[in-house]
Amino acid sequence: MTTSANAVPVLMYHHVTPHPGLVTVSPRAFQVQMTSLARRGYTTLSADRFFDFLHHGRDVPAKSVLITFDDGYLDNYVHAYPVLRELGLRATLFAVTGWIGNGPARPFGERDGAPHCPNHRACKAAIADGRADEAMLRWTEIETMEASGAVEIHCHTHTHTRWDKTLADPIARRTALARDLTRSKEALRQRLGREERHLCWPQGYFDDDYVAVAQQLGFEALYTTRKHVNTRRTPPTDIGRIVTKERNGDWLLRRLSLYSSPLLGRLYTALRGE
Ligand SMILES: [Zn+2]
Repeated sequence: MTTSANAVPVLMYHHVTPHPGLVTVSPRAFQVQMTSLARRGYTTLSADRFFDFLHHGRDVPAKSVLITFDDGYLDNYVHAYPVLRELGLRATLFAVTGWIGNGPARPFGERDGAPHCPNHRACKAAIADGRADEAMLRWTEIETMEASGAVEIHCHTHTHTRWDKTLADPIARRTALARDLTRSKEALRQRLGREERHLCWPQGYFDDDYVAVAQQLGFEALYTTRKHVNTRRTPPTDIGRIVTKERNGDWLLRRLSLYSSPLLGRLYTALRGE
């Protein structure tokens, strides 16, 4: 009897806020999804434990999952963090370090004075306008979440720039990406005392050059938006993730069981042509 998972699904969230928009799940749906996962006995892995499964073939519980959030929105702290903490779950948050603010931690959840969490479009406008603090996390909030053990922070670059779209020259592109990653790594080292090795690509874009630059800088686990099953044979530079939606717990459990089976998952992605 095998007790270890053969494949580990990775869930991808962006916003958890009551204000509908792109890449958004409502706090109610998030709570329902997380409750289903907890009741079904899923183990939420840390990013390091997930990497050990992929890279070193270490065993993880049969029902294991990695929960991820991209960008570092304030709503992750206000609406998702209390749910994770309450249920004893763990998530990985990929933050754009250049968008993280300073100042005291704000109230979260149902507490008095918990901030308004704008929708995706308003968040983008706030960042472009130099008002990122209205939409994004502060370091103190990250530290609060990390100290609880419910959320850990990793790298999503410093500026979230698609260098492939902004620079035509491949050498200039590589240099700009290296600088972007180095700044992010430095910020995480200074603030959290961590030698970062988990990186999530902005908008899921990467190519061979990108991977080479990231590896040179010590990033070993690279998270994509590709929809494939993660087994011990998956290169840690090509981690697939499942897009989450405003759906119920049964929907989430079906996705998880599909992406927990190397065979079913491969068939499914082949049929969808992904
Ligand atoms: Zn992003």
